[in-house]
Amino acid sequence: MICLGIEGTAQKLGVGIVTDDGEILANISKHQEIREGIHPRDAAIHHAEHIKNLILKAIETAKIDFNDIDVIAFSQGPGLGPCLRVVAVAARTLSLKLNKPIVGVNHCIAHVEIGRLRTKAEDPVTLYVSGGNTQVIAYTDKRYRVFGETLDIAVGNMIDQFARDSGLGNPGGPIVEKLAMKGKKYIPMPYSIKGMDVSFSGLLTHALKLLNKYPIEDICFSLQETAFSMLVEVTERAVAQLNKEEVLLVGGVGVNKRLQSMLKKMCIERGCKFYVPENEFLGDNGAMIAWLGILMYKSGVRHKLEDTYIKQKFRTDEVEVTWRY
Ligand code: AMP
Ligand code: MG
Repeated sequence: MICLGIEGTAQKLGVGIVTDDGEILANISKHQEIREGIHPRDAAIHHAEHIKNLILKAIETAKIDFNDIDVIAFSQGPGLGPCLRVVAVAARTLSLKLNKPIVGVNHCIAHVEIGRLRTKAEDPVTLYVSGGNTQVIAYTDKRYRVFGETLDIAVGNMIDQFARDSGLGNPGGPIVEKLAMKGKKYIPMPYSIKGMDVSFSGLLTHALKLLNKYPIEDICFSLQETAFSMLVEVTERAVAQLNKEEVLLVGGVGVNKRLQSMLKKMCIERGCKFYVPENEFLGDNGAMIAWLGILMYKSGVRHKLEDTYIKQKFRTDEVEVTWRY
């Protein structure tokens, strides 16, 4: 069985083609170059302009024919409305034209499932950190439940905005990481955890106020240390409470080596296993949508056209997990 999946919840458009053995036949993407924050309408126009060619290129890369596709999957949410709509229209069009079933998938769960596929983690506590999302997710009783999340902005968004407002450039993640490596002195910053949830907006405001008062390297270092410690603390608490033995890191911020090493250290100290997929599968990608499409379809999920409305606020725990026991 072959599934073509389309991702496009934010500024990145991706098309993946995956088999039910978990073989990735194609995983290509195109993202909108932006200097400021994402503008939903402009990102949607970008997606509309490139979707056709990206699908054609994915088919070519996979060395298959349109008729070889068995299922079409698309990211139904959460994400930016205009972007989601372009992706949904493309997926519905393909489904109708090829007369193949369509499955709308949850973007956050797709991150978890591609992470499990690539790393062979079985039942992890997942830390999903990206430009738009920050969640600690674990499977219990037929759902992927959110055990902790951000109360305001996502950690990637916080870092990106810090970098933009301080003139470092966009996207901020890699730039801040590089500068942080040269940082030597920790400057105390607001460390904000409420129950199992985290908050980053106060940290952002504080870090921006320190500009020109401390070396930028030390600010970046302290920003990362503070934000990542918060994430590791909440992840560790979820591991302890749920008695899980694995931790999986996914999402674009997961590329960060410092975050990886902090999580790894926590896992070693707790005696659990730490998993992180290849960079290609950390950030948003089409393959993760195709893979979750396969899992859902094979476990009996069927979507009618009227089930394919986009869900901007699609919650991770809204989906009944039919493909795991
Ligand atoms: P995603 O939303 O999953 O596509 O990932 C994009 C986010 O990952 C953006 O907020 C980037 O700044 C962030 N990112 C990418 N590379 C790094 C890095 N090395 N360290 C921290 N964040 C990163
Ligand atoms: Mg994502």
